[in-house]
Amino acid sequence: MSPKNTNDRAQLPDGLRTETLAVRSALPPSQHGENSEALFLTSTFVQPDAATSAQRFAQSEDFTYSRTSNPTVRSLEARLAAMEGTEAAIATSSGMSAILLLCMGLLKAGDHVVCSRSVFGSTINLFAKEFGKFGVETSFVSQTDLQEWRDAIRPTTRLFFAETPTNPLTEVCDIQALADIAHGAGALLVVDNTYSSPVLQQPAKMGADVIMHSATKYMDGQGRVMAGALCGPSALIKDVFGPVMRTAGMVLAPFNAWVVLKGLETLSLRMKAQSEQALAVARWLETRPEVARVYYPSLPSHPQHELAMRQQSGQGGAVLSFELKGDTPEAARAAAFHVIDSTRVLSIATNLGDTKSIITHPATTSHGRLSEAQRQAAGIGQGLIRLSVGLEHVDDIIDDLLRGLSTLNH
Ligand SMILES: *Cc1c(COP(=O)(O)O)cnc(C)c1O
Repeated sequence: MSPKNTNDRAQLPDGLRTETLAVRSALPPSQHGENSEALFLTSTFVQPDAATSAQRFAQSEDFTYSRTSNPTVRSLEARLAAMEGTEAAIATSSGMSAILLLCMGLLKAGDHVVCSRSVFGSTINLFAKEFGKFGVETSFVSQTDLQEWRDAIRPTTRLFFAETPTNPLTEVCDIQALADIAHGAGALLVVDNTYSSPVLQQPAKMGADVIMHSATKYMDGQGRVMAGALCGPSALIKDVFGPVMRTAGMVLAPFNAWVVLKGLETLSLRMKAQSEQALAVARWLETRPEVARVYYPSLPSHPQHELAMRQQSGQGGAVLSFELKGDTPEAARAAAFHVIDSTRVLSIATNLGDTKSIITHPATTSHGRLSEAQRQAAGIGQGLIRLSVGLEHVDDIIDDLLRGLSTLNH
């Protein structure tokens, strides 16, 4: 009897759960049988002969050149697709380049996009400014008012773009309802799932056509690399986005793919632990006299609490925001700066989903380019603080916030 090939065991059984897929989905191992996914740091691949080379270049399936595909990146794509419950996935150099790939693949001059006005700031700029230059028009509508989405539809509408929950106010939209409206208009629904990750919510199961990720956030989870992805049906990923990627080259570096592969293996544990810690911090903040309001989906005071809990597997994620009291914008800003500057453990930075807790002042960072009137309309006050809760002991996070809060005049 010939010795068994390790690859005979590489085919996983059907019906595995997200936690298992996050650890086990990948390409089959190499001939060495490595248990952990290998890092293929190579830009090109040697071909056995000219005829095979010609065939591989024609098909773009086997490995030829790392702008076309790379085994480490392919393993990450397999894992992401398995976790999102889509047929395929394509990895990109960042979250923003995933949106660039999306739009280069699906839109042309004259097309129209409907987008929530509460999505990530750079996403708004990309649609409004950069794609605008190429004749793609975008209408920005309410995150929560479905009628605004319906009213924005034109004969040229190709895409709906949504993100849920949003940054920093954690507004939630109804994915299934948006999918129905988009499909009724012959458009596709794209969901930026960065904030929930497939552990909390799988938008494809609620009718979304393409799922976009910034893997820089929870998926890496330890703030080390930039990465992004699109997940969806093969007809889009392989036939529409694949050719654009091969030409335009917004590819993910193999090393970054390897880091994210490793991050995904602990994603479900981290999401659960960070959601629990964030809820404890949010509940505590609600008891503080210096705090006017706390925004966090798991709090019953959240306006879309029930929808959020139904859509997000009962978890709120790591990100919460809170508004400090202040009679004037100047007083509120001074209070926010005092609380931020009094921390000794939290990082003053703009990232999220990291194991290190991060504190941010949205009005002067992510939303700093807006006018005060635009900020007011968006609900981003000068007293607003955003927190991405990490894995330090929750009491140390609370004590760190208390340093500033307890010395505020309120
Ligand atoms: C960070 C982020 C992006 C952009 O991703 P990058 O990896 O920074 O390019 C897009 N959407 C959301 C929700 C994000 O948080």
